[in-house]
Amino acid sequence: MDHIISGVLHFQKHVFPEHQALFDKLANKQSPDVLFITCSDSRIDPNLVTQSAPGDLFICRNAGNIVPPHSKTTGGTTASIEYAVAVLGVRHIVVCGHTNCGAMNGVIHMDTLGELPHVKEWLGHSRSAVEIVKAQCSEINAGQLRRVTEENVLQQLQHLKTHPAVAAKLATGELELHGWMYEIESGEVCCSDGANRVFEPLQQYYHSLAAKRSTA
Ligand SMILES: [Zn+2]
Repeated sequence: MDHIISGVLHFQKHVFPEHQALFDKLANKQSPDVLFITCSDSRIDPNLVTQSAPGDLFICRNAGNIVPPHSKTTGGTTASIEYAVAVLGVRHIVVCGHTNCGAMNGVIHMDTLGELPHVKEWLGHSRSAVEIVKAQCSEINAGQLRRVTEENVLQQLQHLKTHPAVAAKLATGELELHGWMYEIESGEVCCSDGANRVFEPLQQYYHSLAAKRSTA
């Protein structure tokens, strides 16, 4: 903990004064363009990976970057999504999974989660990802962790569409969904819209998306 405390002191003394104007601007208002949903994993830093600043990303984190399908049950993720879309008016939602995800490993090995009832129930929202990979391969094992993680991102994009605030903004073209997969070991980000289940490197993905739109 010591380095965390000295980090705050360093921030207050050296970093904050450098960005005083930005913090003044943000003191009473935020207007982020992006809701960024990712895993709680300590190895992911959304602002570092996207080279963005305070105020740019409304971040929602949980084990497995999961979005429970809309229901009458209220949870932190559901409330954050509703607020970001309906009140803040974000124009984009990114669901970002990552390599070597412990939560996704747990989904593959649900039988080992007996002592973790809440984790087990939460990861139930990702079961369809495992079932999809299982249907395509004869068996499921640790070697398919990446495939399961990618399918999980795509499944959570589907779940997002069940949330009324999201569905409404999608219908009017005011909101766009993005499926991302971050590689911890290389810094690579691969993307998919779920249409063909393929994740392409970010630059290639957005280049072809722009080309498709310019010819549409
Ligand atoms: Zn994870």
